[in-house]
Amino acid sequence: MNHRSGRHFLQIPGPTNVPDRILRAIDFPTMDHRGPEFAKLGHAVLDGLKEVFQTRGAVIIYPASGTGAWEAALVNSLSPGDKVLMFETGQFATLWQKMAQKLGLQVDFVAGDWRHGVDPAQIEAKLAEDTGHSIKAVMVVHNETSTGVTSRIAAIRKAIDKAGHPALFMVDTISSLASIDYRHDEWGVDVTVAGSQKGLMLPPGLSFNAVSEKALAASKTARMPRSYWAWEEMLASGKSGYFPYTPATNLLYGLREALQMLREEGLPNVFARHDRHAEATRRAVRAWGLEVLALDPAEYSSALTAVLVPAPVNADEVRKVILENFDMSLGTGLGKMAGKLFRIGHLGDFNDLSLVGTLAGVEMGLALAGVPHRPGGVAAAMGYLAEVAAAGKR
Ligand SMILES: *Cc1c(COP(=O)(O)O)cnc(C)c1O
Repeated sequence: MNHRSGRHFLQIPGPTNVPDRILRAIDFPTMDHRGPEFAKLGHAVLDGLKEVFQTRGAVIIYPASGTGAWEAALVNSLSPGDKVLMFETGQFATLWQKMAQKLGLQVDFVAGDWRHGVDPAQIEAKLAEDTGHSIKAVMVVHNETSTGVTSRIAAIRKAIDKAGHPALFMVDTISSLASIDYRHDEWGVDVTVAGSQKGLMLPPGLSFNAVSEKALAASKTARMPRSYWAWEEMLASGKSGYFPYTPATNLLYGLREALQMLREEGLPNVFARHDRHAEATRRAVRAWGLEVLALDPAEYSSALTAVLVPAPVNADEVRKVILENFDMSLGTGLGKMAGKLFRIGHLGDFNDLSLVGTLAGVEMGLALAGVPHRPGGVAAAMGYLAEVAAAGKR
């Protein structure tokens, strides 16, 4: 492999660029995870995560990718044959649903067009119909990473309450946590699933469950087999800052640093930064004369933007040209969107100039790949970023 000078632009929507501060924090000798020093680290990360989930309840950390935390949410709170309600918002919702099927749950999988989030009115209607309360849980992906479409979690909570239904509410925030406003307690979520390698700016390898009292109570009678994922042992050890088995110690050093960085910037500022970069990106896409996949402005993702590439050009050809010429990775089209779109990740450790560089790479790539478009996307984004700066809103 030839050396490529300068920084690789890793603009896929996760894993995201890991900031130097976090890389340095990880680069320390691994310590005894049963020793006296460890508990300080354990408490720091378990308590710090609560701020990010906006919860006072329990948080669990697994040495696993996000998929592990999906499984943990299901096996701890449900029983074989339980009926659950899930929504086809995109590839990740589809994969979580497949997992639920494999684990023996009975899934009512509501079809979707991959361009909209979950409709709260539809949830309300489905739950209101279920007068016998046979539906045990409702699962929603907050930010559908395959499409750049979000679902409105607060509105969905209201819909569940309006139906007066006792189902557990589980939300996948793997690509939204620490990028898009999310409130586990206020929005009455029972299990929140998250991962390390997206908004939290860490390498892959950690994933999380935030768990409500109601979900904890459900776990006492839930009958799915579980061992590695069992909340009970995790929570018992966590009280004293430890883990029942070997944690990913060095990633926890990184997590402690990431939480400190988020605290320094302030979560509201972190969310505003992501909103700003998403808006600037959409302005660039519109100026190019291209189309964003998300159709409803109320559901635009602030973590990534999916851009449709008009046929006959294959979107993966655009990605290839950009990687080869400008050393930037963009997200591929997943599942039924393969070849039809590319995804620009603008989440995690990112600022205005990294966005402008990213959009410049895309604009040059569109020209090189022969995608019919107008120039001026980067200028449109710059105009917006400068406007926000002039207004002192950043
Ligand atoms: C990345 C992602 C996942 C999968 O996480 P892994 O860490 O790859 O297992 C699941 N859901 C969403 C929304 C994601 O963005």
